[in-house]
Amino acid sequence: MNVIIGLEIHCQLSTKTKLFCGCSTDYRDEGPNTHVCPVCLGLPGAMPRLNRGTVDYALRVAKALNLTVLDESVFSRKNYFYPDLPKGYQITMYDKPLAERGWLEIEADDGTPKRIGITRIHLEEDPGRLVHKTGRDRAGYSLIDYNRSGIPLIEIVTDPDLRSPKEARRFLNKLRATLEYLSVFDGEREGAIRVDANISLEGHNRVECKNISSYKGVEKALTFEITRQKNLIRRGVHIVRETRHFQEGRGITTSSRSKEEENDYRYFPEPDLLPLRVADWVEGIVLPELPDARRERFLRQYDISENHARTLTGDIRIAEFYEAVALAGAQLAATWVADTLLGELAYRSMQIDRIPADHFANLITLLTEGRITDRAGVEVLRHLLDACREGREPEMPVDIVARENLGKAEGDEFADIVASVVRANPDAVADYVSGKEGALNFLVGMAMKETRGRADPKDLNRRIRTHIEEERG
Ligand code: ZN
Ligand code: MN
Repeated sequence: MNVIIGLEIHCQLSTKTKLFCGCSTDYRDEGPNTHVCPVCLGLPGAMPRLNRGTVDYALRVAKALNLTVLDESVFSRKNYFYPDLPKGYQITMYDKPLAERGWLEIEADDGTPKRIGITRIHLEEDPGRLVHKTGRDRAGYSLIDYNRSGIPLIEIVTDPDLRSPKEARRFLNKLRATLEYLSVFDGEREGAIRVDANISLEGHNRVECKNISSYKGVEKALTFEITRQKNLIRRGVHIVRETRHFQEGRGITTSSRSKEEENDYRYFPEPDLLPLRVADWVEGIVLPELPDARRERFLRQYDISENHARTLTGDIRIAEFYEAVALAGAQLAATWVADTLLGELAYRSMQIDRIPADHFANLITLLTEGRITDRAGVEVLRHLLDACREGREPEMPVDIVARENLGKAEGDEFADIVASVVRANPDAVADYVSGKEGALNFLVGMAMKETRGRADPKDLNRRIRTHIEEERG
């Protein structure tokens, strides 16, 4: 049974001020209702004034996603009542959006490139935020914070081209990366992205899962819906066309209300704003290097694997970090960033921009020059990450290596260890001499333990063999 998925994605544009007033959008560390004015509070008689920057940001998105900008776009009032919407309507775009018919390329489930159609994009204002102090039921009241009211959103509607929850997740990751490369979006901000996901099984009614606020949540909600709908169909139950709510904590969707018809909203053109004619602005927009182009360049310039190139360009912060450390050894740096660092960061819930690039580059240099083993490298990295996480001034890896005595064992120290391991394990030596290769691995393991991982196992293997042969004369 074919799965058909389409997404409606609301993203916060990261302009300095709101969509229709001069209030600052950066209210993160401030009290509720401190970034408000008559316009974003929706007081009677207040007049909206369009923020030119938001149009510029939205046009960059339109161009990057290959959309055609309409000759004329019109703001409309979408009427509904809700406490976080004091005007009684939201200013959005309805029948004349900003741009139509574009696409974004992703990797399909079978690994081939696939274009996901973009139906349209438009600008709209965010409502305020309801705060339930100790859970709605216990407090018995809601608080309202209008700091978010009037934040510029871009709504991106896809064609029903996605065929699995994994594809939906990959689309969102690619979209996020693209918007961040364009410098119009900050995915780390709370509430930066909200997704409504439409899903149906071929030949059956469509269900809409509303207001999912994480990428993982979208994948989970869709996976849950596929199972739920398949089970109903198997039992011969009709799938109701409805809106469902995703409960993040429980990983399930529950029926919330029957869907309003579009005409319940009584859309009409916003009389306080002129139609927007910006199609010719697009010509003047110069796009920065986007994820696909950067991936191609990484492949050419650094000669790294396709997989590494994809991982390293999937997030602009990672791409920039990699380029800052690649001079110390491009291929080794690719492996250490993509395979080691990202895992260690995820384990600590840390962001890559907490790590000073010069420190990491120093670690790569030590590895490139063969002064430490991979195992010691991981230990040095952990020292570095822990210092950054705890807000301590991090030491240079070369100093960590000196202090912790993590440099490769060599010279006399090395010879002593090899000799003592051979002396202490005559049975294993005898086994090896009689042709049992496994005995050598045992000796190498013992010696590794003695060096606390500061030796290269291959090197150790060679040294032990030589030592035994020399002893036998
Ligand atoms: Zn305002
Ligand atoms: Mn919307």
